[in-house]
Amino acid sequence: MKCLLLIDIQNGFCSGGNLPVPNGEDVVPIANRLIAEGRYDLVVASQDWHPADHGSFASQQPGSKPFDMGTLSGRPQMLWPDHCVQGTHDAEFHPGLSFAGIDHVQRKGENRDVDSYSAFRDNDRSALTGLSDYLKRAGIGSLDICGLATDYCVKASALDAKAMLPAVEIRFIADASRGIDPAGVKAAIAEMSAAGIRIVTSAEVIGSR
Ligand SMILES: [Zn+2]
Repeated sequence: MKCLLLIDIQNGFCSGGNLPVPNGEDVVPIANRLIAEGRYDLVVASQDWHPADHGSFASQQPGSKPFDMGTLSGRPQMLWPDHCVQGTHDAEFHPGLSFAGIDHVQRKGENRDVDSYSAFRDNDRSALTGLSDYLKRAGIGSLDICGLATDYCVKASALDAKAMLPAVEIRFIADASRGIDPAGVKAAIAEMSAAGIRIVTSAEVIGSR
């Protein structure tokens, strides 16, 4: 059972969004090809889904501005512009994404007191989203991960997948992902690779079977 996990391919992380990842929308056609030609049994998409007063927003912390380092519930927290607020256009999936090919949506970031980069659990690791149980019940044997942004939510999701689904082969599809900071992307790929996650391209994935 082969699964594709698309991370946060939402308007907010593409050009014109509130927290744009440079060229984020470039992953959309690649994700669509993976959905159509990757021969996946299961396609899951995560969706950042914040209340308007989410504590990771700089707007909620007087005297702060986006991309300052602050704290949230006593832990270090990068402060973000308001983004992906529940029910807004910013939180919707990119309109070009083949939504009909997605079997399951996993929302995250709904608790205002903790951020959730990972699609599997909150950053403080106390609350699970339920995705690992869902994938275990589905009986997946391999999980390919890609999307936005490589150096935050994609990396966190891939590392959690590796830790929480030890029997599953985890791969990161590099060209189907974009990051915020080039140095951060490089470090993220090194960290994923060191954790035993295979780094692949969409061409390898599509041509591999
Ligand atoms: Zn967020």
